[in-house]
Amino acid sequence: MAVWVGIDLDGTLLDHPYWHLHLSPWLTRTARRHGLDRTALWQRLQAESRRRWRAGDWLGAMDWAAMAAGLGLHLPDPGRPPAGAVSRLVMPGADRLLLHWTARGLRLVLVSNGLWRNQRPYLEALGWLEVFAGVVTPDRTGVAKPDPRAFAAAGRPLAWHLGDQLYQDVLGARRAGVPAMQILHLVQDAPLDPLAPQRVAPDLTVEDLEQARVLGLLLVARAGAVRRLRVPCP
Ligand SMILES: [Mg+2]
Repeated sequence: MAVWVGIDLDGTLLDHPYWHLHLSPWLTRTARRHGLDRTALWQRLQAESRRRWRAGDWLGAMDWAAMAAGLGLHLPDPGRPPAGAVSRLVMPGADRLLLHWTARGLRLVLVSNGLWRNQRPYLEALGWLEVFAGVVTPDRTGVAKPDPRAFAAAGRPLAWHLGDQLYQDVLGARRAGVPAMQILHLVQDAPLDPLAPQRVAPDLTVEDLEQARVLGLLLVARAGAVRRLRVPCP
């Protein structure tokens, strides 16, 4: 029987390409063009995102183009970037993990809080689209991590979920009854969740994608190991 696994994108497999290649340069250009302070502009967008998030509008909180439009600014969707530009943002070991996990028969479901129209161009540029058996994003499913429905939207029971954020990946997975494997290589956590995420611990912690790759292979190789993954909440 196939083993299905959830996997996050930004901060896990890639170092935030929408930010580095699209949103951040747009902020610089737009601030210059309109005589605005770049930091202040970004803070206004972030404040609006937080307001939407706290109001439960998780899809809207990720829609930077809509928030820019609220300020009278046009933020286009990203186009397909040169592969080399995205390659520089691939986290060390990501290609190897994807290759080995899929070769071992794992079915990977991308569970990302980024909008699909803002993620797809980068996956296309890397040739990663076919790697994923499923994609869960707020604009495709209407839910976002840490809502457990984001994991249920995978459509299959997930053996584990690999992600970097405590309040999105770990908390969301735990709420969904999915063992959470947290990767610590780029963690910048923000305690936005009302359920005190500092009390939520991952089932497994890995330092980098190489550890995650090996651990995943061990888990599927040892019968029953995946079923025993879940540890009690502290
Ligand atoms: Mg992430």
